[in-house]
Amino acid sequence: MRTIPLKLKQLQILTRRTPLDETEEKEKEKLTRGWQGELGFDKLLDTAVRGKEIYHLKDYRFKIDSGTETLKVASGMSEVQIDNVLIAGDRVYTFEVKNFGFDLIYGTKSWFFESGREYKDLSMQVNRQRTSLDFLIRNGGFNYDITSHLVFVNPSQTIYNMPNLENLLVPTNTHRRLAKICQPNRYDHGNIADYLNSRRLLKSMYDLPANVEFDELRTGVFCYQCDSVAELVRVNSYKYCCHSCTKEFTTFEIVSILIDELKTINEAWEISPARISAFSGGAVSSSTVRRYKRDRRLLF
Ligand SMILES: [Zn+2]
Repeated sequence: MRTIPLKLKQLQILTRRTPLDETEEKEKEKLTRGWQGELGFDKLLDTAVRGKEIYHLKDYRFKIDSGTETLKVASGMSEVQIDNVLIAGDRVYTFEVKNFGFDLIYGTKSWFFESGREYKDLSMQVNRQRTSLDFLIRNGGFNYDITSHLVFVNPSQTIYNMPNLENLLVPTNTHRRLAKICQPNRYDHGNIADYLNSRRLLKSMYDLPANVEFDELRTGVFCYQCDSVAELVRVNSYKYCCHSCTKEFTTFEIVSILIDELKTINEAWEISPARISAFSGGAVSSSTVRRYKRDRRLLF
């Protein structure tokens, strides 16, 4: 199960509750594109592994003391995030997904924009993921071959000078490559799958509270099924409706969304019936929230 990146979720909420500046809008656009790319690739990978004896770990995050790979002294823990780890055909594969809206020119040392301006070394990012995962796996007493892939998922993107490397996937070769990779395991790899899951980081050190105060936020209740930033419209005392996508929300659903919003913006914030009611802009009374809490329909 892949969950939406916290930063993107925060920006989706803040779009409705505070003015975003240009940088934040761009960041939201970039994160949305990346998230859609990951979901799109999930569909392809899910189809390719369906019904087969294959392990698929999505959004795999772990901590590693990067110094111990090369140095005799520790140099501090760093966090590694890999979009997809696959154990298939008795081997380990990784896939880093890129949903870029711009063309790139391939280079062995670095990648470039069409203008000639240097982008960055994408191959190095993928190699670092492979080295770190290899270190983690060896640390657990296992020995596996790892192949790391860079996957470009945007069909309208062109990669110029692209060499025919096994680990570069573009929309035109993805199906064929995945079919070849997604072979059932012949041996049992439950031990390494358990080990990797035991080392999985549930919370990233990059997941931080949004830099806003509760009092600055626009109050009200909003739709997250569509892009509308307009407040939901009250139908009756139990029901609200989004005029943009026509989705209806019960008062209970609205309260659940408000709590999720508060926790997403800043998990340290105290959540109380009075605060939820204030956050709803009066759409939900604090006595209603207290009743849900008393009936144990909501836990906070
Ligand atoms: Zn809507």
